[in-house]
Formats: sequence, C-alpha cells, structure tokens
Amino acid sequence: MSLSINAAAQGLVIPGIRQFSNQLVLYPNAINLTIGQPDFPTPEAVKEAGIRAIASNQTIYSHNAGLLELREAVRDFFAVSYGLDYNPETEIIVTTGASEALDSVFRTILEEGDEVILPAPLYSGYEPIITMCGAKPVYLDTSLTGFKPSPEKLEALITEKTKAILFNYPSNPTGVALNKEEMDELVSLIAKYDLFIVSDEIYSENTLEGEHHTFASYAQLKERLFLIHGLSKSHSMTGWRIGFVLGPASIMEHVVKVHLYNGVCASVPGQYAAIEALTNNRHVPAQMNIAYRDRRDYVYRRLTLMGFDVVMPKGAFYIFPSIKQFGMPSMEFATRLLREAGVAVVPGSSFTEFGEGYIRISFAYSMELIKEAMNRLEGWLNQEFFVNKEVIS
Ligand code: PMP
Repeated sequence: MSLSINAAAQGLVIPGIRQFSNQLVLYPNAINLTIGQPDFPTPEAVKEAGIRAIASNQTIYSHNAGLLELREAVRDFFAVSYGLDYNPETEIIVTTGASEALDSVFRTILEEGDEVILPAPLYSGYEPIITMCGAKPVYLDTSLTGFKPSPEKLEALITEKTKAILFNYPSNPTGVALNKEEMDELVSLIAKYDLFIVSDEIYSENTLEGEHHTFASYAQLKERLFLIHGLSKSHSMTGWRIGFVLGPASIMEHVVKVHLYNGVCASVPGQYAAIEALTNNRHVPAQMNIAYRDRRDYVYRRLTLMGFDVVMPKGAFYIFPSIKQFGMPSMEFATRLLREAGVAVVPGSSFTEFGEGYIRISFAYSMELIKEAMNRLEGWLNQEFFVNKEVIS
C-alpha cells in the first residue's frame, strides 16, 4: 500500500484570491478591497435568534434537509419575491453555505468525463468541485460581450458530453446581471438540449438596478434546474454557513443523500437565525444596497475619470475594470499596486484565464476606505504611468 493521495485533490490549488490576500499581512497599512463579504454586521434580530437557539439547547442535529420551519420560510421567500413554487418537503435542502449546495448538486449529477459549461470570468469555487468529480469545466468567454454569455457561443460549446451549464448572475467577479430578454434568449436555446442548469443566484438580493430575474421562473427548465442560494451575502452571514438548494423532487431525493453523507445537516443555531433572516428581515438587503449603490457610483466615476475601461455593475458588490492599457499581467499589476500604493485588489486571473487583463475591486467597504483607496490608486497611476507617459491610451 502506498500513501499516494487522490490525484484530483493533489491537483487543486489554493484560490488566487487567497494566495493574494495572504500577502496582505506584510502591508499593514494597505487598504484591502479584496474580500467578498458585506462590511455590515449580521442584523441584530438574526443574531439574537441564533443566540436564543443556543440558549434553548437547539444544538442537536436537525432533519438532514434542514428544519422544516426553515424550508417553509425558504419556500415563502421565493414565492413572495419571485413567484416560485417549491415544495419544502421534497424540493428544498438547507446546506452549509451555497458552497456545499454546489458541491452536493455537482456530485449528484456529474460523472467522469462529463463537461460543464461556465461563462467566464467567474468565481473560482466551481472548477475544483467539477474536477473532483472527474468532469471537465468548459469556459465560455464573455469578455468580448460585456461579460454576458452569447447564445451563439454557448451553443457552439455544447457537445454530447455536456451535462450542465452553470450561470451566476448577478456575477462574481463582474457585477453583471442579465435582463429578462437576455435570459429569454438563453432559455429558448438551452431548452432544446437535455442539460442541467445550475443557477447560482447568491447575489440576487444585491441587485442594484432594476429587478432580479431568476432562471428558476422558466417552467420549461423546472425539471432540470437547481437554484443555488444562501444568506452569506444578503444578510451578511458568511460565517454562519447557511445556504439552500432548490430543485426538482426526483433529483433532490439523491442530492439530499450526498448532502447528508457529507455533513448530516447545516448548523442548527444557524438555521434558526436563518428563519429570522427570511421572515422578519427580508428588508435588510435593500438597506445594504443603498450603501452599495452609492459606493458603486463613486468607484465607477473615479475609475472612469482615471481612464479605466469598465462595465457598470448591476448587482453584487464588485467592479471589474480592464487594466489592459497598462500592459502587464493582472497579478503583477495587483502586486505592484499593493506594494507601491498600499491598495489590495484581486488579480483578474484569479477568475480563470478569461479574467486576465482585469482586476476585481470589492466595494463592500466603507466609503471612507474606498475614497482613500481611489486616491492612492490615482496617485500611483499618475506617478508610475501617466507622468512617465508609459501609457498612451
Ligand atoms: N457563489 C458565489 C458566486 C460566491 O461569490 C460565493 C462566496 N464568495 C459563494 C457561492 C459561496 O457562498 P457561501 O458563503 O454561501 O458558501
């Protein structure tokens, strides 16, 4: 017997974003705009619900799919907000964050050799799950189409090995959201093929303009769509680890087995806190969005004035400007910006090769920090590039 380990596990790499933020300890005065979590505390009433659960000894396992009361709250939330109709007994599972929802769904549907199409640049959490299943991520480059998936390009990637398509709108890292017409077009294409759809809509409540449209509202997808969600972003609950997956009963009965053999159930005090979040605290994301909108407008204006080519984010709390004019890889740009100007942003290459040539700036930080970071960025650019006339565009 040898002590060799699973090759796919061995092949995993620490996400670029973590590798980069690890450097931050060396620069204590740097302003860190790398993190993707709200800068607001969990709402008081939600915290109290969690504390009450602990005090009253709700510290035991729950039903594997989660407390029925929470699944009912999830059902009501999606019914009221998006007109969806999911059965809490058979079509909703509470998971350890959206991360585990993604893991359980992919491990349920994927087999060795399958392909999953993912519009990119995108969040780095999907690829490792897919490759651990022996499946292959196939990227759809959206960088030339405003970070939105072109139906023609998508169709060109579909092969007999394609098992699923993943969507993440509003998007991490670009902040792009799809409007109804764009979704209609994609759905009429997808509906022609027997493919699963995994729609990670964890940023839906952080829609900064207009209304969020969900892929789950299309009846023709209902039997093969998994809606991935959670409270990390909407209610600033990243550390509570509560997520959800909603999907068709015939497949969810298998997802729940994968989920339970992995973690039994989601944290129970967290589930009680989640009930409070989804019932009496539905208004919370809209309050946070007021601040995000102000910050987004400010960052967008400053970046445009500095000459960055940048798409206006419609959701989430990220902005993804191009740095192509500076003629260096995003890792080098971000490293220099950190060392020379004391501002930390995420190199676009952390979001697949299609993110190369961009940086991700999170605006889940106070306006004061954001202003100072923009001043530092502008000062650095003026000194390093514009004054020296290294940049001509
Ligand atoms: N999906 C996306 C697009 C994300 O950005 C994140 C967190 N950064 C997750 C899923 C995972 O969220 P959770 O905390 O619910 O596991």
